[in-house]
Order: sequence, then C-alpha cells, then structure tokens
Amino acid sequence: MIDFRCCSALALACCALAGAAPQDAEPAKLAKPEIIVGPVSVYTFSPPESFVKVNADDVSLAQILGDLGPDAIEWYQHVQTLSNPWFEGRVPGSEGIEHAANYIQFWMEQRGLEPAFENASDRGATAWRQKFELPGGQPKELAVGLKFDGADVAKGEVATLKCSASGDVTAPLAFCGYGIADGKDGYSNFAEGEDLAGRIVIVFRAEPLREDGKSAWGEDGRFTPASSLRKKLDALAERNAAGIIVVEPPNYAGKKSDLAALPIGQLGGARAMPCVVLDAEIAGSMLSAADPEHRSLAAFRALADSADAKTIRFPETATATLTTSMDDGKLLTENIGGILRGKGTLADEWIVIGAHYDHVGYGNYGADAENRGEVHPGADDNASGTAGMLLLTKQLSEAYEAMGDDANLRSILFLAFSAEEVGLNGSRAFIKSPSIPADKLDFMLNLDMIGRLRSNELEVGGVGSAEGFMEKLRPFFEASALTIRADPSGRGPSDHANFYGAGIPVLFFFTGVHESYHKPGDKGYTVTPQGAKKVLDLAGKIAMWRAIETDRLVFESATNSDGTTRGQDRGYAAVRLGVQPGMTEDGTVGVKVEGVSEGTSAADAGIKEGDVLLSWNGDELASSGVMMEKLRAAKVGDKVEIRLVRDGHEETVTVTLKAGKPRA
Ligand SMILES: [Zn+2]
Repeated sequence: MIDFRCCSALALACCALAGAAPQDAEPAKLAKPEIIVGPVSVYTFSPPESFVKVNADDVSLAQILGDLGPDAIEWYQHVQTLSNPWFEGRVPGSEGIEHAANYIQFWMEQRGLEPAFENASDRGATAWRQKFELPGGQPKELAVGLKFDGADVAKGEVATLKCSASGDVTAPLAFCGYGIADGKDGYSNFAEGEDLAGRIVIVFRAEPLREDGKSAWGEDGRFTPASSLRKKLDALAERNAAGIIVVEPPNYAGKKSDLAALPIGQLGGARAMPCVVLDAEIAGSMLSAADPEHRSLAAFRALADSADAKTIRFPETATATLTTSMDDGKLLTENIGGILRGKGTLADEWIVIGAHYDHVGYGNYGADAENRGEVHPGADDNASGTAGMLLLTKQLSEAYEAMGDDANLRSILFLAFSAEEVGLNGSRAFIKSPSIPADKLDFMLNLDMIGRLRSNELEVGGVGSAEGFMEKLRPFFEASALTIRADPSGRGPSDHANFYGAGIPVLFFFTGVHESYHKPGDKGYTVTPQGAKKVLDLAGKIAMWRAIETDRLVFESATNSDGTTRGQDRGYAAVRLGVQPGMTEDGTVGVKVEGVSEGTSAADAGIKEGDVLLSWNGDELASSGVMMEKLRAAKVGDKVEIRLVRDGHEETVTVTLKAGKPRA
C-alpha cells in the first residue's frame, strides 16, 4: 500500500505531467478526512485542486502508474481508450459510441459475465444490449419528386414535411384554399361531406390574409390557432387527400418558419400520404396550368381570402405525380449489461452497478455554443465512471471467485447506460423494462464523474435513500481516508435518480464539476488514477457489503412533503414544474416538452407534450439546465410567465409553481 503523503506527491506529478491543473492555482492543504452529512449541489460541488508543483521532467508517469498497481493502470487505460478522439465523444447514434459499446461488451465478456438481456429477435437467447429509442428522433427525407405536365420540379423547389409518408401518387389536382374546416364566422374550405380521395391537393399555409399579408382574423393581424398547419393536415387527412402540397400565399407576412424543418410532433405525427412544401412560384404555374381559367396564384389567394372559398377540383387531366421516400429517423441506442451471477441463498437478489458511457459528441447539444463542432472526449464525464464499473467487474468477479461455492452472494448486474446526457434516457428505458425483478433489487450504485478527485473530497449521494443507511455506511467512509460529502437525497441529474424514483436505494459517487465540464478540455490526461483508486476501493467495499449482507435495505424517501430534503433544505428545487424536458429537434433555443405529469404546475397551466418552452419571465430558456436553475431559484406559489411555441404558434401561459411531490 502506497503511503498517503508520497501518494500526493505522485498525484501531483501525474497532474503536473498531464498539465491538468491550472498552472497558477495554489495547491490546497489536504484537510483531515471527515464526513459531512447534508445536501450537495452537483452544479457547484468543486473541491479545490490539491497538488504540489514539481518539475515534470523529474517524474515518470509509468513509475507513478506502476506504483499504483495493475488495477489503477487498467482503469487509466479504459479512460484513455473511451475518451480517445475516434470514439467521437460517444454521442448516441454515432459510430464512435458503437466503438465504445463494443469495447465495454468486450471487457464484460473478458471478465466472464453473462449477457443480461433477453434477445429480442431470438426467444430464449440472451443479449448484451438493450435497445431503446431516443425521444425526439426526426424522420429524414431520402428522396422527393414532383412531376406536372411531364416536367419534373427541380430539387430544392420541393421538400417533404417531416410527417410525410413514403409514397408514389399520381392523381388530378385540387385547390383547398387554406385547408381550414372550421374558421372564423363559419369559414370553411370544404363543402359538406367533401371527399378528396384520389386528389393531390394544393393548400396555402396560414389563414385568410389582409392586404398587408397579416391575418384577417386575428387581433392586430396576429395569426389565430385556426392557421395551424397541423389542423390543415388533420382536415385534409380526414377527407382522404391522396397527397398534400403546402404553398406560401403571395405577400404572406407572417412568421416564415421553415415548414420542412418543423418537428413531426408539431405536425400531428406521421401521416398516411406524401406531404410536401412547394416553392410558391412553381405552385403558381402548376395551378394556372391546371385551372381552365388559368388564374394566377394571387387570384387563388383572393379566392381563398373570400368568405366562401370552397375546394376547387381541376379537370381529371390536370394530374401530378408526387413521390416521397422517408427514413423514420428513429434514433436507437443501447444499454449494455453483464451479470456476475450470485451464489447460494442470495443469488436471486440483485445489486446494480451502473455508469453512463455516452457523452455529447461534437458538442451539438449539452455544450457551449463556441465549442460546437469540436470533439468533447468526456474523459471524466463519464469515461471515468464507465472505466470504474469495468474495473469493478474484474475486482468483484475475483472476490466472488475467492469466496468459494458455498458463499451466499447476491447477483450483480453491471450496466452501461446510453443517452444519459440527453435526459437520463438509458436508465429510464431500463426502469421501464427491467431485466431483473425490481422487488429483488437491493441497491443501485451509480458512478458518474469519478476521475477528478481533489482535496480528497468525494460526494456520495443517496445516503438517506434507505433506513439507517448513513450509519451503516459510516464505517466504510471512515476507513476510506476520504472527506465524504454525504448527501441524503437520491435525486439528481444522473442515472441513479430513475432508480430512486422507482423506490430503490441508491448511491451516487461524484468527484465534482471542474473547468473542463462538458468542454473539449475533458481529455484523458486530466484524470487522476490515484483518486480513482481510492474512490473505487470504497465503491468495491460497499458493493461487497451489499452482496453479502443478508438483510435487505429498506427504501426510504429522503424528501419531505414540501420537496425539501429530510432534516435540511438543499440545493435542489423545492418546486416542480412537472415536464419531462428534452431538446428541440433542430438545436434551436428552448426546452422541448417530452411529457407532462398529471397534477403538476405545468399540467395546471395547460402546458402540453410537444410544446417548446422559450422563455421564463422573459429570460431565454437555452436548455433544460437553465430551466433547472430557474426552478431552483423559485418558491412555492411563484407565478411565472412562460412563453412557448405550440403548433408553430407562440403564446404565453402563466404557471403557478407548486411544491415537488415526494417520490412514491
Ligand atoms: Zn455524466
């Protein structure tokens, strides 16, 4: 065992060699290890660097690692591999994350684990991967074509809507005005019982317009919900249109959002017919050619603006051919799971040891705009935790082996979660379809950012998530020679939160945020193997305790009815909005609402799935992280003006904030 003091010198050498620590930072004197029980905000927990400056030429990294032993070397190698640029920052759907998944599976196989999941395509067989679909995947246009009068419309002049079906339709044209069934003062573009089967329809976006191109129906020319594209598509689909062509009316002065970029959720989901948007000029010439009176597009707008603008069917000879081919854009990714089988009387009870292996890739989301396009290697976040989980597969397999066949040991499921960075999706998918009986699951240990231990200080969250948990953990903490920031709450922005939400005791290991968090600078050489060794020694001992201890942990919610942590107020939000946040499809500003929980502030205010939340009392909501900050600063009873986009239209709703409900 290496002496602590010399350890710090070696640690320093490593950091100095790696140049991890800022050159001008003064090393903190290492305080005597202690245990501090109380809430910790993961957004601000960042212990000071603790190293002593040395001349990098005087030390050898190999020596440092050699002194730390094979396990620390293995961990360090896992981190270097998982955070290498070829893994492209491990964003779901990328080639890079597939390399990482293969790497993790390889090592699980090396350690003799068993595949954890049922093989979806081969009953009875097992699989290492649990596939799940990421919310927010958008259909992509593979091909589009429009032919009229024997002429093909040029590429770029026509584009599919994201709700379009793949199809090939040849049919006579019809003009349906604004495609509105129930407009102002009984305005409707459809006759009673209108059936558009066998017709490709051309329809204007928006609603009847004033001279200035603004709405003739809304106050001050503002467009009303009747102009929603989703409603038009509903009305035309109800009347069996064979194909839909959306066109901008001449001199339209409303919002020029790119209809082809509108997310499928805002278009009412996948449609049964080809749906495209067409350049107005081309549409004008098509309509004039189809129309026996050869009226212009402006004349058709005037028709549609008039009170009695019914559908016009052109002669059967005025046919067009619409061809579309779409990729469903479903974004699939995978959790990876391996089992260390238990023994004896405890074998059918379980422990989960997990870490997310995804990161933010080239920084297109979850990172600073100025770094977009650069690889975000994610060495600490979370190659370090994944490497830790892999090292524990080795150490615990060896320990199980050494315990002999007569031992009573719980089974351990090692899980590498995907899509944590975009909303804890991997752990949510696992909780939704668990591969082990939830009532047999004793405890879940989550390793997320354990690579930058500083000042010997480690956050351990969830110490209040089981009865008497803190007192049972205290001897382990004391023996670790670490300063432990023991947070009772099992909630937080990482995968353990979903297990805690499902009523399972959890522990969350975290060495804190730092200057490279979610930045290209989170590189392999910035992590500290000495620190990880201490963290994983503690994690391994606690896992072994839970593997052997016959008494099950009894879940306990660490949250009071007003949302505060039992015994102390804390950094997490006392109020709850009640939306499941996601990202906007095209990366634009705003928080996409993936779901709304009943009975919450958001539900009361009428916020809906599919809405995009733009601002909070006028402050831009750039991401769900910003929204979390707002929630943390808010109080029960606060009224908030939230500006949102629904079906392409902006509106403001007033939300009265209520306290977060304690977990079931
Ligand atoms: Zn993370």
